Amino acid sequence: MIEVKCLASGSTGNAYAIDDGESVLLLEAGIPAKKILSGFLPLLPRVAGCLITHEHGDHSDGAAGLASRGIDLYATVGTFAGISGIDRPYRKHVVRAGEQFRLGSWMVLPFETKHDAAEPCGYLIYSYTAREKLLFATDTYYIPNSFNGLNIVMVECNYSLPLLNESIASGRIPESMKPRLLRSHFGLEYVKNFILVNNMSTVRHIYLLHLSGNNSDARLFKQEIQRVAGKPVTVF
Ligand SMILES: [Zn+2]
Ligand SMILES: [Zn+2]
Repeated sequence: MIEVKCLASGSTGNAYAIDDGESVLLLEAGIPAKKILSGFLPLLPRVAGCLITHEHGDHSDGAAGLASRGIDLYATVGTFAGISGIDRPYRKHVVRAGEQFRLGSWMVLPFETKHDAAEPCGYLIYSYTAREKLLFATDTYYIPNSFNGLNIVMVECNYSLPLLNESIASGRIPESMKPRLLRSHFGLEYVKNFILVNNMSTVRHIYLLHLSGNNSDARLFKQEIQRVAGKPVTVF
């Protein structure tokens, strides 16, 4: 079985690891490399690489540090163009949406996401060892693909529309932020819809990622998604 671990989630930084018992993939490097390396210390000998979805700092700030500590990075060419300070170019492995590749005990298929970044992507990841399929999708306002046979879903649940409107009404966030948010992040209503249009029968666990500090409610999101999907939900 794939095990999912999280060191950080949200706009201040993202760092996850998935472990199938044979090798480990790091997902995102959005906190200082030091923290990633110490937080995932027991896993390090089995890390096959780190997959990065896009260049925003909350996903890539630790990337250069990981590369200099010997960890291979995987990202699109557009994403790499936006990450500075990687002084070990041979640690960079360019991926393309629609082109799957083997990494450790995993098969990885990048797919396009919709976000205000150069060339963002999500990852559909299969473990040969665990024989499980995991979806990793964050920082996207829309997921065009549909997926079959998923066992684990890691998906952004940034905001809910009523909570976002409340935040604006109370002055916690400026109205001008709303259009950007709606065109860059995945909200509760979209996660629900995504669950309804995809076959969830084989899913055993759903992880909600990247909750907004102002416009989210972890308890409510967990309840709602659990109700709609009929699956256990963990909020990171
Ligand atoms: Zn982000
Ligand atoms: Zn972003």
